[in-house]
Amino acid sequence: MTTKKILILTGDGIGPEIMGEAVKVLEVLKAGGEAIEWRFGLLGGAAYDAEGHPYPPSTQKAAREADAILLAAVGGPKYDELPRELRPERGLLGIRKDLNLFANFRPALAFEELADASSLKKEVIAGLDILILRELTGDIYFGQPRGRRTNADGQLEGYDTMHYSVPEIERIARVAFEAARKRHKRVCSVDKENVLETSRLWREVVIRIGQEYPDVELTHMYVDNAAMQLLKRPKQFDVIVTGNIFGDILSDEASMLAGSIGMLPSASLDANNKGMYEPIHGSAPDIAGQNKANPLATILSVGMMFRYSFGRGDVADRIDAAVKQVLRDGYRTGDIAQPGEKVIGTREMGDAVVAALKRLA
Ligand code: NAD
Repeated sequence: MTTKKILILTGDGIGPEIMGEAVKVLEVLKAGGEAIEWRFGLLGGAAYDAEGHPYPPSTQKAAREADAILLAAVGGPKYDELPRELRPERGLLGIRKDLNLFANFRPALAFEELADASSLKKEVIAGLDILILRELTGDIYFGQPRGRRTNADGQLEGYDTMHYSVPEIERIARVAFEAARKRHKRVCSVDKENVLETSRLWREVVIRIGQEYPDVELTHMYVDNAAMQLLKRPKQFDVIVTGNIFGDILSDEASMLAGSIGMLPSASLDANNKGMYEPIHGSAPDIAGQNKANPLATILSVGMMFRYSFGRGDVADRIDAAVKQVLRDGYRTGDIAQPGEKVIGTREMGDAVVAALKRLA
């Protein structure tokens, strides 16, 4: 087996701390015989500080050469006053666009051990396992024209353009049906077909692609209803596929079902399963450098990398099992602790996962 090359981008804020724990996991896997190697690169504020750009040429080169990328998070108040094109978030959009990472996988999993941390009733979320698939490189976030203009009434107005082409919809639909085949074989496509032309085309194309997957059940839901159903009866969903802006909002909503954003990994893949893996949370500047951050979302992102980019579901299952074990053993960082529970730090949580992983080897 050829050695898989991983580019690690620690980013800003809590990034270096949580990535330090993910690297401990990689070290255990490598020592156990996995053919992986990694190097470090810069993205976001850290890249701006060192090289004057949030996605500098050195990172572009390394990202193109890598088989997969692990990212912690970018951003922080220090960079808020920079011009828009130099802000850390531009680095994130830049790398997604550059590598054509169009399929964003956001699982919403409710760990049984953390059911009390959710704001919903235990019985509504116990056993929850949804995969939200968000198209990531199109839609109103990238559509042209956009800008400001003076309208016919002489008033200043802002405007953006929503659009999806047939190939863009076809490829994300296929990813959704393929993912559903490995799960419970149900896809719910979310749109706003009653109002938007873009959504009308979206629905037509998803239905056509769905005919290639007769073993997968396809349903459709308007985005406003989907937002309600996620709170009312979230377990009705298996795979949700939707466009960039609807997916942005719904996946954040769904993440709260799990209790803490410190628990949730994500993946953004291209057409060849090359991907960037990252926790869904940001750089948490309020707790940076204090050994308080929960590293589990980043560690679970390592698992997703093995599952989706390296075709090693067995390694991913071991990482998931190690995380479940530490939760079962009662290890809690501040964000997932209930009143009265003992709180441990970032490093101690990473050590606990490493110990559990070694026991599972
Ligand atoms: P955030 O996700 O960083 O933090 C929100 C809250 O959750 C904070 O109270 C934080 O302490 C807590 N939190 C987040 N991750 C945690 C973890 N692993 N363990 C424990 N607690 C955790 O969101 P924000 O405060 O809105 O944004 C902070 C910065 O992060 C901003 O600059 C923003 O632009 C950036 N951001 C980056 C990404 C990314 O890199 N993908 C995503 C979202 C926000």
